[in-house]
Amino acid sequence: MPVAPRAVLRRDEQVDRLPERVDVLVIGGGITGVGVALDAASRGASVALVERGDLASGTSSRSSRLVHGGARYLATGDVAMVAEGVRERDRLRRMAPHLVLPLPFVIPTDSSLDLALLRVGMTVYDALAAGRGVAHHDRLDAAGVLAAAPGLARGLRRGGVRYWDCRTDDARLTLEVARAAIAEGAVVATHTEVVDLHRVSGRVVGAELRDVLTGATRTISARWTVSASGVWAGAVRQLDDPTSDELAVLPVRGVHLVFDRGELPINAAIVLPSAAGDGRRLFAIPWGEQVYVGTTDDLHDHGLDDPSLLPTDAAYVLEATNTAFGTDLTVSDAVGAWAGLRPLLAGGDGSTTSDLSRRHTIVEGPSGLVSITGGKLTTFRRMAADVVDRLARAEGWPRRSRTTRTALGSRGSVAEGRERLRGSEAAASAGLDPSLLGGLHHRHGDRAADVLAACVAHGELAPLVPGLPYLRGEARWAVRHELVGRLDDLLQRRLRVSTRHRQAGGAEAVAWCADLLAGELGWSDDRREAEIAHYLAAVRTERGVVPLPAGS
Ligand code: FAD
Repeated sequence: MPVAPRAVLRRDEQVDRLPERVDVLVIGGGITGVGVALDAASRGASVALVERGDLASGTSSRSSRLVHGGARYLATGDVAMVAEGVRERDRLRRMAPHLVLPLPFVIPTDSSLDLALLRVGMTVYDALAAGRGVAHHDRLDAAGVLAAAPGLARGLRRGGVRYWDCRTDDARLTLEVARAAIAEGAVVATHTEVVDLHRVSGRVVGAELRDVLTGATRTISARWTVSASGVWAGAVRQLDDPTSDELAVLPVRGVHLVFDRGELPINAAIVLPSAAGDGRRLFAIPWGEQVYVGTTDDLHDHGLDDPSLLPTDAAYVLEATNTAFGTDLTVSDAVGAWAGLRPLLAGGDGSTTSDLSRRHTIVEGPSGLVSITGGKLTTFRRMAADVVDRLARAEGWPRRSRTTRTALGSRGSVAEGRERLRGSEAAASAGLDPSLLGGLHHRHGDRAADVLAACVAHGELAPLVPGLPYLRGEARWAVRHELVGRLDDLLQRRLRVSTRHRQAGGAEAVAWCADLLAGELGWSDDRREAEIAHYLAAVRTERGVVPLPAGS
C-alpha cells in the first residue's frame, strides 16, 4: 500500500466526502475505530468513520504510550494475552518503525527474591517474542541501575533487571492508522457525532450525524454499524436500545504527571514501586526533555467526558516518585498532566463484572449493531481484524485481514529514514540541528522531507514554542495534511504542546497558531477568540490540580 506522502488531508474535505451509503459505518476515531476502518477498507469494503471530537481525543491520546506485551500480566498467568501483545508489538515496529521505538525499562530492586522472580518472568517474556523481540533482558548491578537513574534513592540501587518494550505517540499512531484507512478509500470525518441510529425492521441501517462545528445534520446508510466508542460504548448502545444495560461501562481513571527531565534525570524507563503499599508499579518514562510518570487505577465517578487529575491522583504519583528518587516534587513542579479512562464492564445491578481494559469484547446486539471495547493500543490491529472477520463471513469479503504488512507512514529502518531526511534537499536548505531532524522523522516518518520543505517554503523554521522540538511550519502542515479542525487538535494531539510546556505553549505561540488556523480555515475574529478560550479551558481540565500559570 502506498505511503502517499504528499496527500492533502483536510478535515472539511473529508466531511464533504462523506457518502450517503457505505458498507461499514464506524463510530469512534480512537485507535480501535481507525483500526476497524483500515481493516475493512483494505478488504474492499466502503467505509466511513465518524468521530465526534478529534482523532484520538478520547482515551487514545491519554495512555501511557507504550506498545508492549504487558510483562506484569505474566504474574496473573495470562500468558496468551501477553503473547498476543508481544506479537503485535513486533508487528507494529515493522509497520511504523519511526513511531514505535524500542525503549529499555529498568526495574530496580533491593530484594534477591524479587530479582530471581523478575528474571524468571523476563525469560518467559523474551521467549514469547520468539526471537523477533526488541532485545533480551539482562541483569544490572548497582552501577548499571545508577547509570539508568542517577537520582534513584537508597534501597533501590542495589541491582535490577533491564528489559525492552516500545514507546510511541498514541495520538500520532491513531493519525497514521486513519491516514492508511483513507489511503485504502475510507472517509474519516472528525467533529462529527452520531446522534441517533436508524432502524428498519429492528435492524440498524444507518445513523443521523451532526457536524459538531457547524450544527449541520445529515444521514448515512450502512450495511453494518460498528461502535468503537470506548468508554462511551454503553451510551452508543443505548442510541440503539434505550433500555439496554449491555456494555454499561464503569470507567477506571489512570493519570500521568509530566516533569522536566532535569528534575528526574533518567536514561531509561524506570519501573517504580508504588509507595502506597498496594503492590502496584508505576513507570517513569523519558520523553525528550521531559519525563512522565504514571499511572493510577481508580474508579472514576465524575462523568466520562474530559477526565481530569484529582488531588488524590497527584498525591499517589508524587509519593511514588519522591520515594523512589528522593525528590521533593509537588504539583507545582509538574509541567503538564493528563488523565485517561479504561473501561470496566458493569453488571445490570451496578456491580463491576470484569475488567475489559486489557481484553477486548465484541458484542453484536439483536439489531446488528457491533460494539467493540476494551483491549489495548498495542493490540488494536488484532482487535480490528476480529471485528471485520465477523462482517467478512457474512458479506463474502476476504476472510483474512490484510493489515499485517500495512506501512503506517514509513518503510525501512529508522536509521535509513533519518539518513534519507538528512540527505534531502529540504534538509540542505533548512540547515537545522540534527536532533531536530531526528524528531521530525519520528513524528512524520517518510513525509518528514515534505514537511520540512513546506516549512522552508513558508519561512516557518523557527521553533513553535521555545524549548520544544516543534517547528512553526508543522502547525500549517497539520491543518493541511493531518485533519486538524480546532486549536486544541493541533496543540494537544498533533503536537503535544499542552502537556510538555508549563504555559501550554504560552500566549504568543497560542496566538500565532490561532492566527494560522483562522487564515487556513476561514475563522472570524470571534471564532478565533473562542478557539483560544476553548483550548485553555481544555488544558485546565486536562491538568486538573496541576496549575496553568496566569498569563498563559
Ligand atoms: P477511545 O480512544 O476512547 O475512542 C473512542 C472514541 O469514540 C472517542 O474519541 C469518542 O469521542 C468517540 N465517540 C463516542 N461516542 C461517539 C458518538 N456518538 N459519535 C462519534 N464518536 C463518538 N494501551 C497500550 O497498549 N499501552 C499503554 O501504554 C496503555 N496505557 C494506558 C494508560 C491509561 C491511563 C489508559 C486509560 C489506557 C491505556 N492503554 C494502553 C489502553 C489504550 O489507551 C486504550 O485501550 C485505547 O486507547 C482505547 O481506544 P478506543 O479507540 O477503544 O477508545
